[in-house]
Amino acid sequence: MTDTALMPIPGVIDPVPVPRDITPRADGRVDLIGLPRERIAELFAKAGLDSKAAKLRAKQVFHWLYHRGVTEFEAMTDIAKTMRPWLAERFVIGRPDVVEAQVSNDGTRKWLLRTADGHDFEMVFIPDADRGTLCVSSQVGCTLNCRFCHTGTMRLVRNLTAGEVVGQVMLARDALGEWPKGTMAGFDDDNLSDAYGEDDYGRNYTADGRLLTNIVMMGMGEPLYNFDNVRDALRLIMDGDGLALSKRRITLSTSGVVPMMARAGEEIGVNLAVSLHAVSKEVRDEIVPINKKYGIEELLQACADYPGASNARRITFEYVMLKDKNDSEDDARELVRLIKQYKLPAKVNLIPFNPWPGAPYECSPPERIKRFAEIVFDAGISAPVRTPRGRDIDAACGQLKTAAEKKSRAELDRLYAEKEAALG
Ligand code: SF4
Repeated sequence: MTDTALMPIPGVIDPVPVPRDITPRADGRVDLIGLPRERIAELFAKAGLDSKAAKLRAKQVFHWLYHRGVTEFEAMTDIAKTMRPWLAERFVIGRPDVVEAQVSNDGTRKWLLRTADGHDFEMVFIPDADRGTLCVSSQVGCTLNCRFCHTGTMRLVRNLTAGEVVGQVMLARDALGEWPKGTMAGFDDDNLSDAYGEDDYGRNYTADGRLLTNIVMMGMGEPLYNFDNVRDALRLIMDGDGLALSKRRITLSTSGVVPMMARAGEEIGVNLAVSLHAVSKEVRDEIVPINKKYGIEELLQACADYPGASNARRITFEYVMLKDKNDSEDDARELVRLIKQYKLPAKVNLIPFNPWPGAPYECSPPERIKRFAEIVFDAGISAPVRTPRGRDIDAACGQLKTAAEKKSRAELDRLYAEKEAALG
């Protein structure tokens, strides 16, 4: 795989170019995860199948990869036995490697993951009574330096590929045991045209009672600075024959990359969350420095224009509560005024600040958070206070990075080697 760590990284608030199309692994095989059906068909044709067979095989393999979650071609039981080694010689079914998995005393789980070219990043699963939310990363590190966020103190290493983004969701389904069970009926590899009849294609199994119900693009990184890969990954996640998660259960969070917001609405169409965190230029410039480039007014106008936003699909404004910084009654009233001025279908998530070593802020006292919430709520805007989750394993909002940094590189390599040995 290309060492994308060497790619040029522009200034702190500029987009990072997407570095590649498809790069084969060191052994020459190509990872299929992250690729849409059409691309898989092209690769099969390039490897020697005629175009009809390539298309049919791609459809078949796509279903096994993204809907059934298999990690070996050998498990694709409706594909001829002689064909499976042909696939395995040329392609792989990748997953990010798990370096470490932790479980919080509140049930939150955090995984430290590693890309095939050796870069570490994190993902978090937050179980609740009525839902289970996976917080997915889009970059290794981040360029944006939001001052309340520990990830922002890391340098950006690189964008994650579409395969590494969708791979997080697939890994979570692996870990939670959530791939559909049962057998696929209606396949006969000696007669492909029968096998791919639309009516009986893979419908004879169940996918009920899942724990992982929602996805938030709120892990490490700014998703809109890795737009193409995030879009392609989310399309696979939403594809009815892929991971089949409704767009209403997916939220993309941005710190305010205004020029990309309309495209996100049009080309992805998921729910939008915006890291607002302050209502004056002075304070937002400090907390979320991208504000120096795209100010509050511009950002709120882009929210008002976001395709698909409505009272049924409100935009979420994330607001971290920082003592004596952005938590006054006047701040709350100004927040209400701005939301009303731009006629935004909005909800406000109030996030008690989650501390990390060396953080320049403290969390607002509970009474002040309560008062802030009351002012917003009394103006008719939903303003729940988020319960911190996973703080004991540094998995809470804004804390990602700590586990990777607390351990030395040598220690992480040792843990990784132990895991590899355990897997045989
Ligand atoms: S809050 Fe998001 S965009 Fe800002 S530094 Fe942290 S990871 Fe980057």
